[in-house]
Order: sequence, then structure tokens, then C-alpha cells
Amino acid sequence: MQGFFDEGTLVAVLTTQPLDRCLDYKAPEGGCMAGAFVEVPLGPRKVLGVVWGPGEGGYDLAKVRSIIRVLDAAPMRDEMQQFLRRAADYTLTPLSAMLRLATRSPGLGDPPGMRTVYRLGTGEPDRMTEARAKVLEVLRDYGGLSFTLRELAESAGVTPSVVKGLVKQGAVQEEASPRDLPYPRLDPDLPGHDLTPDQAAGAASLQAAIETGEYGTTMLRGVTGSGKTEVYLEAVAACLARGRQALVLLPEIALTSEFLTRVQGRFGAGAAEWHSGVTMTERRRCWRMVGEGGAQLVVGARSALFLPFRDLGLIVVDEEHDTSYKQEDGVLYNARDMAVLRASLCSAQVVLASATPSLETWANVQAGKYRRLELTSRFGAAVMPEMCAIDMRAEDLPGGKWISPRLARAVAQRVDRGEQALLFINRRGYAPITLCRACGHQIGCDHCDARMVEHRFQKRLVCHQCGETKPMPEKCPSCEAEDRLSPVGPGVERLAEEATALFPEARIAVLSSDLYGSARALKAHIESIAAGEADIIIGTQLVAKGHNFPLLTLVGVIDADLGLQGSDLRAAERTFQLMRQVAGRAGRADKPGSAMLQTYQPEHPVIRAILAGDEEQFWSAEAQERRAAGVPPYGRMAGIILSSPNVQEVFEVATDMARRDGPLRAINAQLFGPAPAPIARIRGRHRVRLLVKADKAVPLQGALSKWVAQFRLPASLRLSIDIDPQSFY
Ligand code: ADP
Ligand code: ZN
Repeated sequence: MQGFFDEGTLVAVLTTQPLDRCLDYKAPEGGCMAGAFVEVPLGPRKVLGVVWGPGEGGYDLAKVRSIIRVLDAAPMRDEMQQFLRRAADYTLTPLSAMLRLATRSPGLGDPPGMRTVYRLGTGEPDRMTEARAKVLEVLRDYGGLSFTLRELAESAGVTPSVVKGLVKQGAVQEEASPRDLPYPRLDPDLPGHDLTPDQAAGAASLQAAIETGEYGTTMLRGVTGSGKTEVYLEAVAACLARGRQALVLLPEIALTSEFLTRVQGRFGAGAAEWHSGVTMTERRRCWRMVGEGGAQLVVGARSALFLPFRDLGLIVVDEEHDTSYKQEDGVLYNARDMAVLRASLCSAQVVLASATPSLETWANVQAGKYRRLELTSRFGAAVMPEMCAIDMRAEDLPGGKWISPRLARAVAQRVDRGEQALLFINRRGYAPITLCRACGHQIGCDHCDARMVEHRFQKRLVCHQCGETKPMPEKCPSCEAEDRLSPVGPGVERLAEEATALFPEARIAVLSSDLYGSARALKAHIESIAAGEADIIIGTQLVAKGHNFPLLTLVGVIDADLGLQGSDLRAAERTFQLMRQVAGRAGRADKPGSAMLQTYQPEHPVIRAILAGDEEQFWSAEAQERRAAGVPPYGRMAGIILSSPNVQEVFEVATDMARRDGPLRAINAQLFGPAPAPIARIRGRHRVRLLVKADKAVPLQGALSKWVAQFRLPASLRLSIDIDPQSFY
């Protein structure tokens, strides 16, 4: 439908304002393209929009206002419009909210700005030093390419003053240039590593898929360290060689820099980055260059899926099982599923890489919808760690302590040998509960139905739901008793304290996401740990995500039962994945590793499956149970959360909704609830849940829309619909 509208023609414009329809405008002077990014008048304001198609008309043309101006950006492609429409329909999100996701580029309406860049000059430096020579070498290596001061200094490994000195001598030229420069070209023809036979087979198969130029999805499974990254980089190479763009999604910003180093090694230049850790200028550059073809490879967070790629040929979703791919705020979408949707609309290939794929992906492979590639062994000598359970019922452990004598002995042994040990606990902070030993009061959040978690490093109590913090009180807020408040249960900080007492000689490092001011600080710390600057690592699930610690040979899981307690339908799956990921940290290089799981229920089927390492069997059993229960991925679910400051109002509406469920019954869906949500109050809003369960084949979204449309909701009430919910809090 990509077409052109002459000046004065009626066009429909989708704006980023929360309206549920397009608005009609007249095409501006000079006309406009379908898909053009435009500025339009709305009441007294100017707002951003996209020319969505021909106008509807049917009213007095003289009253229709004109588009103010067309922005200097490549028009939205037809396929992107389709993607937004389909994603909106699937997630039951207004199109305008989808458009907001697709226009998160700062300064979209600004004219291109200028910045200072550096390139090779004609002069000769008076005196050649090693540092100066490096700068000139970098400039020569990259041909006519220009650098910012920082880029040039960093590439050459010198201080900016060296560059400035060369500018004075005329050997380097300083000039103003448009801000949004294309990214350095990646060279897919540079040689990669020599691949092992199963890596080579995997790479060949992905390359063949890319060559078809069609849509397809492949699950790439292999234990941590088997070379999945190595293999999908070959798919990226094939994609770039065809002149198409590639996108790699990572679940955690902290993983980006390690990945960029590998991209640099493989293709001779880095990739464009899109995540919350990059500057506004870089975000803007990325958004524009992706649209103009000046970025070949983007590495990013889930929202990178909404970048305006000109010709996207490959999407890699690394650690595809990771729960952070599900956006739990605003537009509730799962980036893994949206990647598949987007790829199917632009004839791209998808690679879903994981050591422990989600059951959804596993089921799609079984159903023949996705292809399957397996890397069977770890690269080099490394093997999967030996796993064993520590039956905590038999360990003699005093209250307030969590490291069993058996685990402590194993840790001491590694430390003596100069190896590293990791103690894993998936809980941030010092202690999850602060209890008054005089009256039994537990300190809670004032705005949420949740306990405050003590963070001793920060000397504060923090609510993990709303982020509210307060200082640790001196006396009990309820009975005013002094010195009777005491911590209950372990967090990563408290475990560090215990480890310090047990191993006073050891160097202990704590890895928890809240202890770092920036992604850079975290990265630096991870690198120093990997280089051996710690004997014992105490970490939360941050460490489970793909970092390389070559000296690590022992993983101790402090509480393997923790994830099994929830009522979440994916509790078993999550525990299985997390434990395998964590265990996979041990013995990555040439030393064999082992993993010890502290548990009070060693006979639990999930714990047994983890110990046996029999994944196929675990998945079949889990699949069978979910199929029998008719839950995802074998049935469909939608979570409905109603929230309001007024508890009575929220229950009344929810009860009314449950009563008038005709549209849901029409598709034979079952409705559960209303019930108070597990966290019944967040940020002062009372929360009530309803749950809809339906057969896989039914048109669930249509029925949900019809059902919800029956109700006039009070303004103070918020309703959110979560298709395929991942969390149930
Ligand atoms: P995964 O993504 O499955 O965790 P990686 O691709 O990160 O595995 O590989 C683990 C480590 O082994 C990396 O440091 C990688 O560079 C190295 N490696 C894997 N395959 C090869 C190979 N064929 N040649 C050289 N190094 C390799
Ligand atoms: Zn709170």
C-alpha cells in the first residue's frame, strides 16, 4: 500500500496520543508518502503521528486541518505497520501505544545536528611517539572513516590529549559533521573460528535457512559454553553477506559488552546498541541508521524489535527462556513471540538460543513449527558439572546460618586450590523479613501489601514492589520496643557476611544488580572476577546469565527449593532452568566442575530431574502435566488485573465482570476469580485478579475484547489484560 498522497488529499494519521482510532488530515504542501512521520495539530497541541493510509472522509472537507510538516525520517514501512497492527491485536493494546514503542527515538522531529569528528589530515607530526603512531594507524586502517574524539582515543588506546596534539600539527583533521553517522561497516568475510563438527553443522544449517530468504524459526540448544554464540554469529555473517540486517536480543544489558567484543573479533567492527544503557544521542543515531541502512547489526533489549529496520533478515533471541523478555509494564508483550511475528512479516529467520529452552519453544519444535539444532558437547575439554544434592535435614546447621558444613568443606577445598566457588541465592538484600521479637510485627511497605527488605549496604529498607525505601528504624514501629528488630531469612548480603566469617582469608565478591551504579561498573567488576580477583562469588540470578568465569569450579545453590514454593504454573520449569544455568557456570574451561544443591526435599521430582540431568525426560513430564491441565503452551490463558485506590469499587467491578461473561462462554473459555491478587496492594492500589483459560484454537482476543467492552469502567480503575501471563503476582 506504500503510495504517495498529493497535497490536500485526505489521509488517516495514527498519532501517539491515547485515542483508539486514526484521525483525518489533509496532506501538506508538497504531498507526503504513506508511512511518513508527521507532525499534526491536535486541539491546541502539535503531536507526532504516522500517515497510516487514505482518510475516511464523510464530513466537511473544509474543516479538516492540514498536516503541519513531514519529519526528516524514512517513512514507516508497510511491514512495520502490519507488525504494529498484529502486535496490537495480539496483546489487546491500543495501536497508539504500539506506535509509541516504535517511535522511542529522542529528537525524532529535530533536524540532524552536528558534532565534531576526526579524520586523517595531511600534515606530519613534528615528533612521532608510540601513542601518536597508534592514532594514525587506526585512522589509516579505517580508511576515510571519521571518529569522535572518544572513539578515536579508545580505539587507539591513548588519551584524548594525544589526538588533540595531532590536530594542532595538522596530522589529524577536526571537523563538524552531521550527528547521525552510519556505523562502521562489518565485514562478514573475515574468518571466524574453526568450528567443531556439530558447530559447523549447525552453522551450515542456519546459513542455508538464511539463503532461502524466507521466514523460519530455529531452536538452537546447547549447554552453556557449547558455542551457541559462535554458531549464530555465522548466521549473522550469512545475513550480512546477503546485504540484510540482523538483530541480536540479549536478556541483560550486562551481557552486551562481552558480546560486542566477540562481534568486533568476528566482523572487525562493533554493532549498534539499543538499550537503556546508551546515551540519547546514540539511541537517536541507532533509530535513524537502522531505518536508512547505516546499521547492519543491532544488539539490544526487547524494545529493539520496534526499530524501523530497512531490511531485517535475522533475529537472534539469546537465552530465549529468560523471563525478562516479557515486558511486565505498559504494553505487556513477550519479545520472543513478537520476534517470531516480526520475522514472519519480513521474511526473516529467527534463532532461539538457550541451554534450557522454554516449554513453549520445546512444544513448537515438537509440533514441527520450529526447527531444532543441538550442540551436544561443551567446547574444548569442559563438561557439564557433576551434580549432587545436600540433604539439609541431615546437616547440622544452627538457625540464622545457611552454608551447610558439607558445602563449606567443598568451598574451602576450591579456595585452597586457587579455584573459584560460587554461592548462589536468588534474593537481593540482607534479609527478606525484619521481625520485631517483642510483638511479632513485620515491617511492611506503606503502599504495598509486601514486606520491606533490608539492604544493609545501603543501610535502608526497600520495597521490591514499588521501590519505596526508608531508613532502618531504631525501634519497632508497632510496639516501640528498642533493639528487638531482627532479620529473618537470608539474602545475598547476609550470605556474604556468613561466608566472610567462615572463610576469613578468602576474597569475597558480591554480585547483585542493586549494588552497582552503572552497567559499566558492573561490567568492570565481572571482568575482574573472571580474571581471578575473587575466591568466592556470592550472587543472585545475575550470575546465571551467560557470564564466563573460567576459574569457577564449584557452584553451591543455597536454597534449591526457593523457586518451587510459588503457585506459578511455571515454577518447576523456572527452577529447572535456573538451577541448570547456575550449575552450568562451573567448569567452563579445562577444570571439571561440580554443583551442590542444598535442599530439604531431595526427592522432589524437579530436584531429581535436575540432578539426573535428564532434560528430555523433564520436558516430557512437564509437557504431559500441562497438557492434562489444559494450560500453556497447550491451552491459552489471559490474566486480568483490576486495580483502584478504592477496594470496594475494584471488587464490585470485578464481580460484575465475572457475572456477565457471555462472550467468554461463547468460546467455551473458563473464568476464574475474582480473587485478591497475591500482592493485594501495590503503590496504594488494591488489586484483584481474574483468570481466563481457553482452548488453544479459539479466538481468545476477540472474545476478551467483546467481554471487556460491555463495561463502563470508572476513571479511577485500571484494567490490564495480560495475554500468556508469565507472572501471577
Ligand atoms: P555459548 O553461547 O553456548 O555459551 P560460546 O559461543 O560463548 O558458547 O562459547 C564458549 C566459549 O568457547 C567462548 O569463549 C568461545 O569463544 C569459545 N569457543 C566456542 N567454540 C569455539 C571454536 N570453535 N573455536 C574457538 N573458540 C570457541
Ligand atoms: Zn511498596
